Amino acid sequence: MIVVMKRGATPEEIDRVVAEISRLGFTAQFLKGEERTVISAIGTGIAADPQRLEILPGVDSLTRVLKPFKLAGRDHHPGDSTVSLDGVEGCVERVEIGANRVVIMAGPCAVESEEQLYEAAAVVKEAGVAVMRAGAFKPRTSPYSFQGLGEEGLKLIGRVKKEFGLLSVTEAVSPDHFDLVAEYSDIIQIGARNMQNFALLRAAGRIGKPVLLKRGMMNTVEELLLSAEYILAEGNSRVILCERGIRTFESSTRSTFDVSCIPVCKHYSHLPIIADPSHAAGRWHYVSAISRAAIAAGADGLLIEIHPYPERALSDGKQALRPEKFQELMGELRGIASAVGRTL
Ligand code: PEP
Ligand code: MN
Repeated sequence: MIVVMKRGATPEEIDRVVAEISRLGFTAQFLKGEERTVISAIGTGIAADPQRLEILPGVDSLTRVLKPFKLAGRDHHPGDSTVSLDGVEGCVERVEIGANRVVIMAGPCAVESEEQLYEAAAVVKEAGVAVMRAGAFKPRTSPYSFQGLGEEGLKLIGRVKKEFGLLSVTEAVSPDHFDLVAEYSDIIQIGARNMQNFALLRAAGRIGKPVLLKRGMMNTVEELLLSAEYILAEGNSRVILCERGIRTFESSTRSTFDVSCIPVCKHYSHLPIIADPSHAAGRWHYVSAISRAAIAAGADGLLIEIHPYPERALSDGKQALRPEKFQELMGELRGIASAVGRTL
């Protein structure tokens, strides 16, 4: 942390800053210029917010040298980390998210019925995809929208997973549901609306399953990494980040897909990052182009919504790919993955 004093700051003001720096557990070092004094605070210090030094008399500005996240950052873990899932005997090999192979997760927004989930799973399997997505607890913007089938939906996911030999990702919206969701799912999703639900993040940190953490639609990359930090700090190192679009002034898509989130996360963090082109686009027409862009930008995987009959979907039908479109996209993605030195 670097504290720049104002021109003409008095010796008393400087002494007060130094005293406060020591009180916070840092060591102060000086750089006395012709016009200003710069004080660097060295060390890790106590957890108290050092930003408050900025309000002391005589202080002009304060700059952090280290990022506020530690466990999620590359200082702590310079190499890329990967999140592994055990395979399903005879059906799916071990899946490693963050390794050379790009991991596709696909399925309907929500489990709606036995028939719908079986049909969707058949499409996923046919495309050679190992991880099926499907929500049982749906965090909907309106309380009048379909909220998901809850535990009944989880049970259906459990059955379909077994029958098709698939792995699954599904969302938990309350800490009370974690154990239940973990029984039926290989990856627990924390949705965009819950990215800063700190009780939920802490609960996710205590579960022995990988967590897919989606970026909130109003959150910065730094906030995403601080939310990941909550999970990591509780002892769960298996965190996968997900860019799913952010809210901007543009209204032609549901959210604006922030492709730069991928290289920025890769720069600051060792955690794997995947992209959700479906919730960013909000319309199926744009899903393929965004998927291709995400893989080209270095995403470690994709979370894609598909539906056997999008016109009948109880949620997010507009953005769901039909089976044939999804098959077509898988072919395109193979080409993009190979162009950036990866496999699919
Ligand atoms: C979802 O994956 O179905 C979902 C609700 O996504 P998000 O949290 O990104 O809106
Ligand atoms: Mn959805």
